[in-house]
Amino acid sequence: MKPVVFIGAGPGAADLITVRGAQRLAAAEIVLFDALADPALRDLAPHARWIDVGKRGFCDSTGQVAINALLVRHANSGRAVVRLKGGDPSVFGRLEEELQALAAAGIESEVVPGVTAAIAAAAATQRPLTRRGSGRSVSLTTAMTKSGELQATRTADTEVFYMAGRQLAALGRRLRQAGWSADAPVLVVSRAGWPDQLASDHRVATLAEASVLHAGRPTVVTVGVGAAPVTPSAHREPAQAQGRAKQEARLEP
Ligand code: SAH
Repeated sequence: MKPVVFIGAGPGAADLITVRGAQRLAAAEIVLFDALADPALRDLAPHARWIDVGKRGFCDSTGQVAINALLVRHANSGRAVVRLKGGDPSVFGRLEEELQALAAAGIESEVVPGVTAAIAAAAATQRPLTRRGSGRSVSLTTAMTKSGELQATRTADTEVFYMAGRQLAALGRRLRQAGWSADAPVLVVSRAGWPDQLASDHRVATLAEASVLHAGRPTVVTVGVGAAPVTPSAHREPAQAQGRAKQEARLEP
């Protein structure tokens, strides 16, 4: 029996999949994919049977049981099965449940990483998630609890919230309650990595303004140090600047 290969498709555009991911996909006979994956990815496995498990009805917990069963059934048929997930499979992708189901059935698996939405948003907007001296930690956080409640936290210098797109106004209030200052920078990016990506800058106190712009689109919300734009002056390293000053002093007659 062939191992099931979990592949991170990346955030959108098909060319953001890894080379390894594309190679494994090309060898697939069955691809179980989610709604978020770019349709152009199909060109990487044109002869495989593609099964959409991201549709409504597969999203709740009964849906997850059905997906697990499909994975096991197709793997048992001896075909090469790929489970293609948006972004990275390890980030809010229900990977744990699916690995458990395969392990319970004695089926081996392999995980190929992908570009998660937070990373795609940082790249597309040129907002480094870490900053020397001021941004030492990054947290990937879901704004939704298991029971569907909105929750905000402040556990890192930069916190990236997934699954908060529908409740940006409420998220702003929760961020204040979690200890973020009213003027902390907030970057909202929807459909990161897609041609129609949108990005907007806000403050915690004014996050509600972002609701209309990003309505109905997959959205990540970056709060704190990593949300701030890079400014030319902030780029200069103090140590280098000092070195340069010394050099200049030496050059002086
Ligand atoms: N495994 C995925 C996350 C799946 S959870 C990953 O690694 O990116 C679904 C959430 O991811 C969405 O609610 C949204 O918050 C975020 N998301 C997924 N794709 C996105 C994109 N292209 N742009 C912005 N946010 C995205």
